Amino acid sequence: MSVGSTEREFMKGCLACELMDGTREVPGGTVAEDEHWAVDHCLGPFGVGAFVLKTKEHRDSLWTMTDGEAATAGPFLRRLSQAIIDALGAERVYVTVWVDAPPHHMHFVVWPRYPGEPKASQLEARRREEGMPDWDAMADAARRVRERLERE
Ligand SMILES: [Zn+2]
Repeated sequence: MSVGSTEREFMKGCLACELMDGTREVPGGTVAEDEHWAVDHCLGPFGVGAFVLKTKEHRDSLWTMTDGEAATAGPFLRRLSQAIIDALGAERVYVTVWVDAPPHHMHFVVWPRYPGEPKASQLEARRREEGMPDWDAMADAARRVRERLERE
């Protein structure tokens, strides 16, 4: 599935671009998007129900976000974290941000702690040990969060 405007330039070999232009598949597909941001299930070791909010454009740091990206990031994080709580039964939602290697897409990893799980630093280590979650479980979480976001 392709998202974004037709003028947008996608870069071959860039994971985020290839997920947005449909070259590579993400579990459950794109969950939400606007002019500046796209959300899909995280492909890293952050558990079932971890999502990535990423800039559609290449952006190498928080401080180089455009005014439009900065203005919409907060509301998007609020909606997404609420949807993770409501749709998946998470107890807390954490946000991790880093941008290391080019090609850069600013991305927020928005990841859940479920009832009974340890707090953030211990949970992060546990999730890293567990590795990437089961594909079908990620696709199901994506579907539930998309449905929750679409009910607004
Ligand atoms: Zn890219």
